[in-house]
Amino acid sequence: MAKIGINLVTGSLQKDEIIVGIDLGTTNSLVAIIHPETKKPIVLKEHDESSLVPSVIYFDEYGNPVVGSAAKAYLETAPERTIFSAKRLMGKTYRDLGNASLFSYKIIDDNTDSLVKVKVDDRFYSPIELSSFILKELKLRAEHILKTPVTKAVITVPAYFNDAQRQATRDAGKLAGIDVLRIVNEPTAASLAYGMGVGKSDDVQTIAVYDLGGGTFDISILRIVDGVFEVLSTNGDTYLGGDDFDKCIVQHWAEQHKITFEELSANKILTQGLRLKAEAAKKYLSDSDIYEDELNGLSLILTKGEFELLIEPLVSKTIDCCNKALKDAGLNKSEIDNVVMVGGSTRVPLVKHSVSEYFDRKVNDSVNPDEVVALGAAIQADILAGNNKEVLLLDITPLSLGIETAGGLMDVLIPRNAKIPSKASRQYTTQIDGQSGMRISVFQGERDLVKDNRKLAEFNLTNIPGMPAGLPKVEVGFLINADGILTVTAKELRSGVEQRIEVKPQYGLTDDQIEKMLMDSITFAKEDILQRALAEARTEGEQLLKTTENFLQKNSALIYNDELLQTAAGMQALQLAITMEDKNLIQRKIEELNDISRPYAERIMDQAISKAMAGKKI
Ligand code: ADP
Ligand code: MG
Repeated sequence: MAKIGINLVTGSLQKDEIIVGIDLGTTNSLVAIIHPETKKPIVLKEHDESSLVPSVIYFDEYGNPVVGSAAKAYLETAPERTIFSAKRLMGKTYRDLGNASLFSYKIIDDNTDSLVKVKVDDRFYSPIELSSFILKELKLRAEHILKTPVTKAVITVPAYFNDAQRQATRDAGKLAGIDVLRIVNEPTAASLAYGMGVGKSDDVQTIAVYDLGGGTFDISILRIVDGVFEVLSTNGDTYLGGDDFDKCIVQHWAEQHKITFEELSANKILTQGLRLKAEAAKKYLSDSDIYEDELNGLSLILTKGEFELLIEPLVSKTIDCCNKALKDAGLNKSEIDNVVMVGGSTRVPLVKHSVSEYFDRKVNDSVNPDEVVALGAAIQADILAGNNKEVLLLDITPLSLGIETAGGLMDVLIPRNAKIPSKASRQYTTQIDGQSGMRISVFQGERDLVKDNRKLAEFNLTNIPGMPAGLPKVEVGFLINADGILTVTAKELRSGVEQRIEVKPQYGLTDDQIEKMLMDSITFAKEDILQRALAEARTEGEQLLKTTENFLQKNSALIYNDELLQTAAGMQALQLAITMEDKNLIQRKIEELNDISRPYAERIMDQAISKAMAGKKI
């Protein structure tokens, strides 16, 4: 497997370097490489196992992550500590998520504009960390199979991923100890696996990539000109996939056996069992006409016809999305040269037929749809390693990039669809006499007002020498590197003095931050939890003091003197504990005060109840 290649990204010549291709999927993830002898892409797998690693993370009671099939088993039985679909959270704020209740685990944040975190027990995990656990597992497996260290990779992301989400994916790689050489669009990778855009061809090709996975549906319209992949449009549904097919089947069987929704929610073992059988039935029906099995005496039967009736509305929805994507790309169906099928759920014959019928052509489905994205990533990795010199693979910016100017307007520096890498700069000036600082806010999006676009970062250019308004010349430079990642610089030209720029990215992380995060996740997590626990204990203590005081005031006539004295002492002790930094002390004093007041509180309550009941018949 030893290779010598020139790394086009670092420019360095490296020996023994393997660059793997990784499909980091919402449902399943996998790794592929180019076979050293056949030069064909292959997925990595242990002899008797599947190449697919379920993108599921279960945290055991000590907080240790378990990734893959072993974790999947806990989805129904320990939903609050089993994380799935972490990819949907990448680079997202709480506000972006809209409906966090669709997740069975806890998603939290402290303010709507900061990135979400997931809480399991007392630990907080960012989606970046969660994805890094999956990547770490993939890395370990690859190293085990290849018997050599794996530290470099190409990772794929959906075409609609914005800068924050791409950056988050790259950061997850870093956290996992992987140098992410390139982030590639999933539909681009899939097209590559079919040999599209590879080799010499002057033809312009237009491709529709239909990707129906476990939980998401994406349709992307691509155009390839001279080896350059351009994303013309994307559409889809981030909550539609094979899991929904499974749910339809579970519902169908539950209805047949008169199992209510309440029974299903209460009996997780039964639901888990049915869900697994439903997935098995669905897969079986991709090649057969009738499925028959049983579960604890329940007979489970499903014909292909019944299954198709169940999922027909879902399949129709995907076709509607295709229609919209074509419209957005300004194309007719007849202008599509190739349709590429991606994702495990495209094995369902009804899906294949519907897509083929809609586009009115035979679809490309000869490459395993679970593997096609990873295989394409491996081809891209090989190109980066310098082994495949025939292709010059370029990507294109999915959204325009610019800065905010007076009045909250978006001033675009790099337009949408610019070839990557790309560079642009523009000069700006001050609005106030003697203005010494300038805030530069970077946005991504197509709208005229920045408030409708997405803020990527904010800069402060400081120490501009005093000049009348309009005189300083501030040059703002944008540079997008080969991964589609943006660096922004700002410089005051007239003063000739190099200005110091403070960069405060709101999304994405610097190398140092990543390293710090790694450490913080170990050290600060504890501190955060302690701080939070202390604050909670204090609040609880204060509340108890207040309620005790109220109770004493209302019922003083019914409490004995020694009880009053003891209570006063207990309250004083609690008050003192609250001023100290020890949550255990506070909790002890809370307990003690409760122990003191419990006997008389119960006595008084009993009296009140019997009084209230007096004269009433039950
Ligand atoms: P993702 O890209 O979201 O990670 P995948 O492409 O791996 O997902 O697709 C996973 C989905 O494909 C699951 O819902 C799985 O049940 C479904 N699937 C896998 N094999 C088959 C099959 N033979 N027939 C129907 N569905 C299948
Ligand atoms: Mg996928």
